[in-house]
Amino acid sequence: MEFENYLSFNKYPKILPKEVLIPSWLTELDRIDLRNSILCYGKGKSYGDVCLNEDGTLIDTSNLNHIIDFNNKTGIIKCESGITLKEILEFVVPKGWFLPVTPGTKFITLGGAVANDVHGKNHHSAGTFGSHITEIELLRSDKVTYKCTKDVHSELFAATIGGLGLTGFIKTVEFQLISIETPFMYVENIKFENLDAFFDLNEESEKLFPYTVSWVDCTTKGKKMGKGIYMRGRHATKSEVNKSFEMKDGALPFPIEASFINNLTVKAFNKLFYSKQFSKLSTQIVPFEPYFYPLDMIDGWEKAYGKNGFLQHQFVLPYDNCKKSLHQIFHEIVNSGMSSFLTVLKSFGEVDSPGMLSFPKKGITLAIDYRMEGEKTLKLLDKIDDIVAVNNGSLYPGKDARMSREHFHKFYPNFQEFLKYKDPNFSSSFYRRIK
Ligand SMILES: Cc1cc2nc3c(=O)[nH]c(=O)nc-3n(C[C@H](O)[C@H](O)[C@H](O)COP(=O)(O)OP(=O)(O)OC[C@H]3O[C@@H](n4cnc5c(N)ncnc54)[C@H](O)[C@@H]3O)c2cc1C
Repeated sequence: MEFENYLSFNKYPKILPKEVLIPSWLTELDRIDLRNSILCYGKGKSYGDVCLNEDGTLIDTSNLNHIIDFNNKTGIIKCESGITLKEILEFVVPKGWFLPVTPGTKFITLGGAVANDVHGKNHHSAGTFGSHITEIELLRSDKVTYKCTKDVHSELFAATIGGLGLTGFIKTVEFQLISIETPFMYVENIKFENLDAFFDLNEESEKLFPYTVSWVDCTTKGKKMGKGIYMRGRHATKSEVNKSFEMKDGALPFPIEASFINNLTVKAFNKLFYSKQFSKLSTQIVPFEPYFYPLDMIDGWEKAYGKNGFLQHQFVLPYDNCKKSLHQIFHEIVNSGMSSFLTVLKSFGEVDSPGMLSFPKKGITLAIDYRMEGEKTLKLLDKIDDIVAVNNGSLYPGKDARMSREHFHKFYPNFQEFLKYKDPNFSSSFYRRIK
């Protein structure tokens, strides 16, 4: 199949472009005809169809991966949009700097981080990636490059952050790094018994730690429904690293090979993972990579879901009434027996997202992988979407391949405003599905 490498991470839906252009240099963009139905493609690590453009053109940005400017005093860095977070980290960490926000994989591009306005474990303390951007250079199909900041072309700036690649070609991004003393993390892992216990622990932890996230079991009913492991951390200091903390390879070592991941073993995995932590609290100093990117360390784990691929579903629910609706959603998931081993519960904080279509808003977010089993899977997710919609929540477009048009418009009331800034020649399969 031509262009079969240009699918999204979860291999669903399986739709392909008509052509793929791979510019070697930014200057080559001037010669590219930005004609109808064009879309940038980073590393295809989105789950769903925001990076797909059926029968249209994709521009693969992978060669546009240069660092343009870096100020070691201020931590401001400017890069081409096809650079990966991995490449940025390799350059900045040895100099004592770190990404202000990072998602759960470092194999994404800077352009992708902007277009989905990605969030990380520190949303409650730092907001989204977009909150740290100082300038975007955006090439539109009128062949004009717009330098956008909070103050100049500010609407285009806000539309491009979280703009799902629809406002034009992000050529470069300038953003602020954070300083770190060491490339290590101080981490506390704490077992919790059920969903209510999660809320108590989360309230306390958010005040104490910049990074928090929980793995949660979606296979157990009754009093232990929503039991899990809470992982909270911060960048370790030099003196902490020098002290005799137990040094481990990873804070979240999934004790598995990719072949382990299938429906039959999810329950067994959850039992193993939960009981692997013997004491209620464990404290570690670990390198930053296994803490932030545990899945990057399991080669090809996503292929284990089989040829039909899988869906990741991530929603956020505002705090009002959130406990009740989360219980309701957990009941649906547990009863369906369709949850996977990858279930992540986290809170989003107060910091407003800068993008018109940014997903994060204050509340609780749950992300779960589901093997694609046709109607059965789709029906369950439709049911969950309805609960999310009634409770004023929202779904993450960067992890969506199936939400209804009606739901999208309810979740993203700024969409009509956003359309004023959409580039008329940029389009995606996601856009055509929900517009
Ligand atoms: C294991 C794993 C963990 C993840 N964890 C998180 C997480 O914790 N938080 C989170 O927010 N996300 C998470 N994600 C999702 C991922 O971070 C986002 O989908 C990200 O946008 C993917 O970037 P990419 O470079 O692969 O872009 P692609 O998937 O190729 O494209 C994503 C969007 O960016 C647009 N785009 C890319 N480059 C440009 C450009 N130069 N100009 C204009 N538009 C562009 C595309 O058109 C598309 O709309 C995770 C994904 C994986 C696989």
